[in-house]
Amino acid sequence: MTKVTPETMDWDNLGFAYVDTGKRYRAYYKDGAWSPGSIETDKMVTISESSNVLHYGQTCFEGLKAYRTKDGAIQLFRPDENAKRMNRSAEKLLMPAFPEEWFVEAVHQVVAANADWVPPYGTGASLYIRPVMFGIGDGIGVVPADEYIFSVFVMPVGPYFKGGLKPGNFVISDYDRAAPRGTGSQKVAGNYAASLQPGMLAKKAGYADAIYLDPETHSKIEEVGAANFFGITADNHLVTPQSPSILPSITKYSILHLAQERFEMTVEEGDVYVDQLDRFVEAGACGTAAVITPIGSITAGETVYRFTEGDQAGPKLKALYEELVGIQYGDRPAPEGWIQKVEIS
Ligand SMILES: *Cc1c(COP(=O)(O)O)cnc(C)c1O
Repeated sequence: MTKVTPETMDWDNLGFAYVDTGKRYRAYYKDGAWSPGSIETDKMVTISESSNVLHYGQTCFEGLKAYRTKDGAIQLFRPDENAKRMNRSAEKLLMPAFPEEWFVEAVHQVVAANADWVPPYGTGASLYIRPVMFGIGDGIGVVPADEYIFSVFVMPVGPYFKGGLKPGNFVISDYDRAAPRGTGSQKVAGNYAASLQPGMLAKKAGYADAIYLDPETHSKIEEVGAANFFGITADNHLVTPQSPSILPSITKYSILHLAQERFEMTVEEGDVYVDQLDRFVEAGACGTAAVITPIGSITAGETVYRFTEGDQAGPKLKALYEELVGIQYGDRPAPEGWIQKVEIS
């Protein structure tokens, strides 16, 4: 395989696939402290076969994006929120915190080092940033590791929607991604391992992805694949589930803010019962990768709930999408503190 470079990259036809951009940030934790992190060139990591991450899943990750603006600058969307969430995940798995300011600085450094890989404005593409932390070393007992790697790599990714906002059809899963009082609200590997089979079954049955219900009563919507759910009622309420087993999406909380502040919607976090889904005239899934995905339908056993007319996203969801993406690409004014410019030397 010939190695792609920013010069040979086909920006208009990117999907979501790993690209070795040549530069990533790494920091190492040993003897109770983090080493000063730096940019490294080798994508490979060599670790002990007894590393905790390989056996007991002591690892957490994040996902965020850098965007090219019309004037050629590069900007980040709320990276401080990812820093905080990563540390909440780390805390749950008894991993060391990576100081918030260092996290944000690491993201700036790795994006600046890979500036040529940030797709041009207007392609709808962006630079996906993947921070990850994992337990390594020779410990084999079921106890936290005493050594860790923190790494941040990047890759250019295409827009989620090649032909505009296209609604997807989803199905309620019989399975759970997380336990009622487990790790559902942390971005930790085990949740995603648990979702692989249900996700595959949903896709095999012809759906875009599985919808997970609350694991305690199986009556309320929690997650749409690896994205959060929201529904919009005819009287302009935006409703999103609240539960300790949902991953708190930064995109979701940004949408709630915009809905309230810029669209005069009433926002509610609460229970979203499957058997009351017909109160919504529009519904969506949201996350960094999904941005806002319109939900065309949800199949729950014999019942199909529909939220779109044909192949068109609803007007409110569309307006929210344009506002959010406009902010991310620098075309619309951002609320205070949401955007950080990346300094490129
Ligand atoms: C990452 C993730 C989301 C979306 O979170 P964002 O901060 O908006 O990217 C939603 N659900 C799950 C399960 C996730 O892992």
